[in-house]
Amino acid sequence: MMCINSVAATCNVMVITDPTGKDPNGAAAGSMSFADNMFQSTFLMSKEHHFAVLSGGTGGSDSRLDSIVDAVASLENNASAASAASIASKYKGARLVVGGPEMGISIGGSFDAYVVTVDGNGSITVTPYSSTSGGIATLQPGQKGAIIHLRNSEGNPLYGTAATVRKETAINIGKMIRDGYPATTIVSEAMGEVANDSGEKYGGGAVNLVSGLSTGDMFTPKDLNESGYPMNEVYSKSCDDCGWSVGYPSSENYEVCPVCNGELTTIYAYEALGNAITVTSDSVSVSVYGSEKPGLASTTKQIVDASVAKYGYDASAIATSINKGINNGLLVGVDHVEPKDINVKKDSKAVGVYYTALNGDKSSPSWDLPVDANLLNILGSIQTAIGVILILLVVFRSRLLKSFQNR
Ligand SMILES: [Zn+2]
Repeated sequence: MMCINSVAATCNVMVITDPTGKDPNGAAAGSMSFADNMFQSTFLMSKEHHFAVLSGGTGGSDSRLDSIVDAVASLENNASAASAASIASKYKGARLVVGGPEMGISIGGSFDAYVVTVDGNGSITVTPYSSTSGGIATLQPGQKGAIIHLRNSEGNPLYGTAATVRKETAINIGKMIRDGYPATTIVSEAMGEVANDSGEKYGGGAVNLVSGLSTGDMFTPKDLNESGYPMNEVYSKSCDDCGWSVGYPSSENYEVCPVCNGELTTIYAYEALGNAITVTSDSVSVSVYGSEKPGLASTTKQIVDASVAKYGYDASAIATSINKGINNGLLVGVDHVEPKDINVKKDSKAVGVYYTALNGDKSSPSWDLPVDANLLNILGSIQTAIGVILILLVVFRSRLLKSFQNR
């Protein structure tokens, strides 16, 4: 029998900078906490319907999951953000933050939050709302703005800072919206500020509601009952010249870039979060075939990103970069590749890497599913249960682990 400690996401933030839904980085959300097991209490996102549901509060993981499923089901039936968020009050201690670029944002259940609005003339309003006064708080559809919820966890050395940090971060979110930063950048900066100033710092993660990107389990712990990655600490180093990057702790072994000898820049976890959910014009979609070895896909993506940044969409150059990575020991357990093993689609900014030769002529697998088979199985079971396309979120992991154990 697995024992999972109860947990509360103590920071939820959702930002909308483009209520038309056109800007690929115009709506984003994130969660974190001082508590461990943040993977139970983060969020769900519908890629198809562009909404996210963040959860938190003091309820157990099962009631939290039930409240999320309930909210997702109502959203599927075209409920407003406000009515979906109000479902949280049916579950003792639970909190839901529900929103999307065009539907606005609402928070319901147990919360202490600010609603931030920014008008067309640049005037910023931040208004405090608390569940002790009853009801929900809402950022109306069509309005640029944000909702931030923040409380301190028991045992946090910075206990008592939440009220001040909640307000200051809300004001800074308003200023960044006014100054034209995209929602993905604002969520990243807000999470950095909250982590530094309030100590509610363990990820958690974030999603881009417009483009369907998520940090996945970049910051979640490997084992149960541990805290996630501290969002205000160093996460990786990256090369200024070619974009190559490597995570801690192995990055401590690198003083200069092993690909091009360029200088390395230190990246904090909240910045890595922002990079992971922000769509840039040079983002490359990289798919890896032939091996599902842990870490292979992410390292391959870093090498391909770096190669494309430097040499463009050139199969020979990409193959050379990958082979260099193999020779350097960055990639392990795979053979050298040849240019014919690299499938380049410049128009869709996509690169496929085949690590083991297929029999006969290679044919390209479907390009619209750049995820591994295991994840698809998990997503499939969730889709069947809820009837909506949901991109991973780790809130389900505890339930999945339990059901696998019971088999
Ligand atoms: Zn480099």
